[in-house]
Amino acid sequence: MKITQGPWRDGHDSATLFVADMTIGYIGRDGDIGLTRCPMCKLENYHMVVSLGGCAFCGFNLNGLKTTHDDGSVTWEKMKGLDDE
Ligand SMILES: [Zn+2]
Repeated sequence: MKITQGPWRDGHDSATLFVADMTIGYIGRDGDIGLTRCPMCKLENYHMVVSLGGCAFCGFNLNGLKTTHDDGSVTWEKMKGLDDE
């Protein structure tokens, strides 16, 4: 499964991140990420660790999957373990 990023919207400083049709978190215009629901264990993340980008329950972490390019754009590595495509 791969992570996709929703559109940047006027008046918002973050874009939504998805795996398939499930919202998993957000990325801010500054590149910071949040994981609100874990795509691996499917649990809603513990609120205190959302802004760290990792799952409090299974250890999944978004940070290692993110590549920020020179122009500021971000691409996401395919997630290992849920490769159903
Ligand atoms: Zn998890």
